[in-house]
Amino acid sequence: MKNYYRCWAEVDLNALRENLAWLRHRVGEDVKIMTVVKADAYGHGLKQIAALLMQSGSDLFGVANLQEAQAIRSVGRGWPILMLGACLPGEVDTAVRDDVMPTISTGDEANRFAAAAKKSGKTVPVHLKVDTGMGRLGVKASEAWELIEHVLGSPGLDLQGLYTHYASVEDDAKFSRQQAVEFGHLLQRLAANGIRIPLVHANNSGALLHEPDTVFNLVRPGLLVYGVVPTGRRPQASTLQNHLRPALSFHCRVSLIKQIPRGTPLSYGQTFVSPRQMRVATITAGYGDGYLRAGSNRAYVLIGGRRCRVLGRITMDQTLAELPRSLAAQPGDEAVLIGRQGDEEVTANQLAAWCGTVPWEILTNITYRVPRVYRGGQAA
Ligand SMILES: *Cc1c(COP(=O)(O)O)cnc(C)c1O
Repeated sequence: MKNYYRCWAEVDLNALRENLAWLRHRVGEDVKIMTVVKADAYGHGLKQIAALLMQSGSDLFGVANLQEAQAIRSVGRGWPILMLGACLPGEVDTAVRDDVMPTISTGDEANRFAAAAKKSGKTVPVHLKVDTGMGRLGVKASEAWELIEHVLGSPGLDLQGLYTHYASVEDDAKFSRQQAVEFGHLLQRLAANGIRIPLVHANNSGALLHEPDTVFNLVRPGLLVYGVVPTGRRPQASTLQNHLRPALSFHCRVSLIKQIPRGTPLSYGQTFVSPRQMRVATITAGYGDGYLRAGSNRAYVLIGGRRCRVLGRITMDQTLAELPRSLAAQPGDEAVLIGRQGDEEVTANQLAAWCGTVPWEILTNITYRVPRVYRGGQAA
């Protein structure tokens, strides 16, 4: 019974290592790589992934909160960590204590960190964010100069980085160009005034594919590290995707097989009624595992190396799928929700399209009850 799971995710650490190596190759030795490991390393398991990325040459880590930063520190010390979200007032002392670099968008945030720096006797490195069109964090470009001067003039603060974030980089070339130009003007003004900020960055995964001119000296890939290439309306000019492979696959098993006559309604709400006699497999994954209910009647799973259509509503723990007539399947057989089986593959991007969402949500929705099984590399 050892390792006989009903539903599990496999993480290929060699894929992660090789993906990072390709990103390194593409950006060159002079550009630092901040691997983004928020949300449990995109559902892959934060500690194991952080350990692997530390061994594989990640220069910095990007996180969403202080707990994630602490988890990284528990694996290895010394890596700079940037918190990509705004730090709450009640978190400032902890961030300073744990050496987590904050993202600064306002004078108030800068002041809180300057006060905490004074109290702790530390110099606090910070990254200042410029809002060029995302509308979430960051100071407006027109007010960035003032905030930069404020931070530079605040004792205890060390302005380590300046960054921005694209809003529609996979879809909208024009808007992205506008964002790049706005950020570029600020950089020119800084250069003209002899102000040098050590780290300048703009590129997440999509921007690495579509906006190579804004690589500057640090990049912030998330999705690409995990081997998933974000897709959108902009044509892919980059060939990077040909060299990356998905690290995660998502598996469950066939638990029952039934023959049903024509006219049989299936699952909650009876959204599917068999148009003919069919063979139907019950499989051991549902939305309680992160197999999104939105994929009901739309998604496909792989059984016996064949594509099998999901029938009716996906339920919490179980899903139904049609078995092709010629497929000899049995209870206990593996069903693949994301990944390869035989010559077939279901990608996170495909599953996301069937579910009307994005691959980021597919990966981060795989729930805690799904064991992550690590292969290759040396896990922590
Ligand atoms: C999440 C995040 C990233 C990584 O995004 P990907 O699209 O997964 O590469 C980069 N920068 C910021 C600010 C983020 O919040």
